[in-house]
Amino acid sequence: MHEVYMRRCLDLALLGAGQVSPNPMVGAVLVYEDRIIGEGWHQRWGGPHAEVNCVRSVKQEDRHLIPLSTLYCTLEPCFHFGKTPPCVDLILGEKISRVVIANEDPNPKVAGQSVQKMREAGIVVETGVLASEAALLNRTFFHSISHKQPYVVLKWAQSADGFLGRTGERTAISGPWTQRLVHRWRSELDAILAGTQTVLTDNPKLDARLHGGRNPLRITFDIEKKIPAEYNILDDSTPTWIFGPTRDVAFRQTEFIPCDRPVALEKLLNRLYENNRATILVEGGAQVLAAFLESGLWNEIRIIESSASLGGGVQAPQLPEGLTILEKYQVGADSIRIFLKK
Ligand SMILES: [Zn+2]
Repeated sequence: MHEVYMRRCLDLALLGAGQVSPNPMVGAVLVYEDRIIGEGWHQRWGGPHAEVNCVRSVKQEDRHLIPLSTLYCTLEPCFHFGKTPPCVDLILGEKISRVVIANEDPNPKVAGQSVQKMREAGIVVETGVLASEAALLNRTFFHSISHKQPYVVLKWAQSADGFLGRTGERTAISGPWTQRLVHRWRSELDAILAGTQTVLTDNPKLDARLHGGRNPLRITFDIEKKIPAEYNILDDSTPTWIFGPTRDVAFRQTEFIPCDRPVALEKLLNRLYENNRATILVEGGAQVLAAFLESGLWNEIRIIESSASLGGGVQAPQLPEGLTILEKYQVGADSIRIFLKK
């Protein structure tokens, strides 16, 4: 039964998608004699953790059952004071007798200390239940915290014959439903990068308006100050980083970052991590994608392939060797494939 309840925790955790990053998505359930008496998930960054919401959700008439129940949780409860008090103390305070966890928390502030503290208090703790599923769900969190660098997702749309678009001209490859999906991806990731050429050709807004939710931090390069002042990326509507010289206008949310040419990708990623951004979506174009692929600084590739051919234009990148396919599905006339680096 452990796996059944942990699967429920994973479903709950997923409800926090797009709301909690750079924190992990976490779900928790409290079970008394094969009956779920409480459920919770981490709903938004800075808000109460899954365990807190789970305990709070228990009805008054069931509260006396809490010490006799098993708490299932996708991630080891926290040990430290963050935006909220440590969940391990909540569990001790509620005198919960049994705790089942999928993943230990790699955060050095936790790293097994909560498991140890609970065991020392006489709680029966089991770890590793659906560990690989839970690690996959929070792959961006696990990568960023253990490598101190954001998780990099490369994304491109290509025609059936393998082109990104016609040279120097805005080309629609994916259908309207796929565009909504891309906006969902944007809302779930912390930052989005498009190269100079893409900005000049497409004048993109780089936001998540078709899905709603959070807009990612927008990033582009403008070393030669070529981007016209009236372009969307310079509209100061949302936090934006422009790698290049400053402009003679006052901006509130747009930051200009002096840089060398070409911009060192590692420096860019380190700056993101230092600014609490755990993920980045790289949306192209060809040069930027090639730079990431060559540097090896990427973790995941999402390819949208339309059923129509272009007959020529800018070649889509070659898929690197040694990928694992994570998902493959159809959205309208487009096929979506998601690959992970092995
Ligand atoms: Zn916590």
